[in-house]
This record gives sequence, structure tokens and C-alpha cells, in this order.
Amino acid sequence: NKITIAIDGFSSTGKSTVAKQLAKHLGYIYVDSGAMYRAVTWFAMQNNIISKEHFYIDKLISNLHNITISFIFNDSLGFAEVYLNGKNIEKQIRTLEVSSFVSQIAEISEVRELLVKQQQKLGEKKGIVMDGRDIGTVVFPKAELKLFMTASPETRATRRFNELISRGDKVNFEEVLHNVQERDYIDSHREDSPLIKAEDAIEIDNSTLTLDQQFQKILQLVES
Ligand code: C5P
Repeated sequence: NKITIAIDGFSSTGKSTVAKQLAKHLGYIYVDSGAMYRAVTWFAMQNNIISKEHFYIDKLISNLHNITISFIFNDSLGFAEVYLNGKNIEKQIRTLEVSSFVSQIAEISEVRELLVKQQQKLGEKKGIVMDGRDIGTVVFPKAELKLFMTASPETRATRRFNELISRGDKVNFEEVLHNVQERDYIDSHREDSPLIKAEDAIEIDNSTLTLDQQFQKILQLVES
């Protein structure tokens, strides 16, 4: 029997890594809900809606109907990449610049409403792993398995830093740590669907777990 698995937690707690492992192992689809917020952010950056100097919220809201987000499975990568209006933007959305704006975009109720609807549609078919901030609380409150991932801020910033460096981005550790902390703050203090652990979610602190230990632990939960 296929189930719905919701994985939430703060930035860079390893949600997507374990979500991809699970999806692959179980033959489920994996949906990165953060990629959808990042896609809207990329759209806003491209259309002069958000920058360091300004954020035209009304313009974003009136343009939401011009945003079509889709996921297309990439065989060689083994997961689905995100497309905005037919264009693959998987690489573009992972930069520190997108990360620096995304939590402001994700605070907008109209944006959340739109994306939550699309996420719920993707989850109509059982056999899905979705990661994000409000999956167990808002998107799939009835998910059979809910995980809440945690790790120390330094562990998380180090992971994100290594990820960005390995992609060739020129970033320094301090700015990555700052971004992780800033997003965590905005994500957990916003009015609409703040990041909180669902009551029935199982907390996994992976600061000291290897990837394999974590995977085995979670697989046991899936199978129990
Ligand atoms: O998961 P990721 O770090 O890529 O998410 C980027 C941002 O998108 C988060 O910091 C958060 O502001 C927003 N987000 C959200 N709700 C989700 C997934 C992501 O608000 N379900």
C-alpha cells in the first residue's frame, strides 16, 4: 500500500537528500516544494519585481497567473527538475541570491495558496514524498508518515556552504550561515503557515547521523 510521506524542517536539514533516497527506494515520486517557491522567486527576479532595493508585492500577485511550474523527471539525475513556463531552471534557483529573496516571497498568502493547491494536486496519487516547511501541517495534514528534520545551525550552514561551493558558486561561510538563519527566522515567524512541527511528526536530529544511518532509521519508520 502506497502512502504519503511529508518531510518538513528548517533550511538545509537534509530533507531533500532523504526524500530523494526514499522515493527512489520505494518507487515513489519526489516533489521538492521549496523549488516551487524558488521558481516564483526566480520569476520575480526576472521581471523586476524583487531586488535588494524593492519588492513590488502587488505586481507579483497580479502576475501569478503567468507562472506555470512543472516537474520533469531527469533519468540521469534520478529526480524531477523544476521548470518555469517550460524552461528548466533547476540550476538558476539554487543560488544564494534566490535564497536571499525566497522567504519574503513565501510569506505572501496568495503565493502560498496557489502553490499549496498545486502541491495537493500532485499528491492526489499515493506514493509521494514531498519536502518543505508546511507539508505535514498544511499540504498533507493526513499524511501517513510525517518527519521533522533538525540539525544544528552550524551543521546546516556547513552543508549548504559545501553544496554551493561544489556548484562553483563564490560564497563565504558567513553569508551562507546568515542566510540559513535569516530564512529560518522568517519561515518560522510568518503569519501564514509558519514552519512548525506537526503534532504527529517524528523528529529526526541528524547532526551526528551518517546518511546511511539516517536512511535506515527512516526506512524502519516507513515499514512499521
Ligand atoms: O527547501 P528550500 O530551502 O529550497 O526552500 C526555500 C524556501 O521556500 C524556504 O526557506 C521557505 O521560505 C520556502 N518554503 C515554504 N514552504 C515550503 C517549502 C519552502 O515556505 N513548503
